Amino acid sequence: MVEDRRGACLCGAVRFRTTGFLRGVIYCHCSQCRRQTGHHYAATNVPDANLEIEGGENLTWYAASDAARRGFCSICGSALFWKHNELDYTSVMAGAFDRPSGLTAESHIFVADKGDYYTIEDGLPQFQESSDSVKVAGE
Ligand SMILES: [Zn+2]
Ligand SMILES: [Zn+2]
Repeated sequence: MVEDRRGACLCGAVRFRTTGFLRGVIYCHCSQCRRQTGHHYAATNVPDANLEIEGGENLTWYAASDAARRGFCSICGSALFWKHNELDYTSVMAGAFDRPSGLTAESHIFVADKGDYYTIEDGLPQFQESSDSVKVAGE
C-alpha cells in the first residue's frame, strides 16, 4: 500500500505530499464542484497534520461559501484543495497525485445536482446529497 504520496498542479508551482492512509476518492457532483472543475470533483481527504504543501504562496483560496474554501494554483488554475473552515482535514483532488496513487474510487455525492449530459454507470454507491456514511477521513 502506498503510504507516502506526492502530487502537484499542472505547472508545478504548487506541490504537496501526504503521508498515511487516505480515504477512497469521492466524486462530488454539486454545482460548485461542477463549475470549479468544469465537470465534477474527485477527491480524497487527508488530516492536515499529514499534508505538506510546497509553494503555498502560489495558492489562491476562494471562499465559495461561509463553510468552506477552495484552493487552486494562481498560475495555472488547477483545482487542488477543498477545506471546511472548521475541520482539520483537507480534501485533495485525486487527479493531482502522481501515479501510482494507490487510491480507489468510493462513491458519488450530490448526484441530484449533477450535470445533465452524462450518466453514472460505474456501480459505486450514489447519494442524492451528502451522506453520513461518507467519512471525512477514516481507516
Ligand atoms: Zn500551477
Ligand atoms: Zn461538491
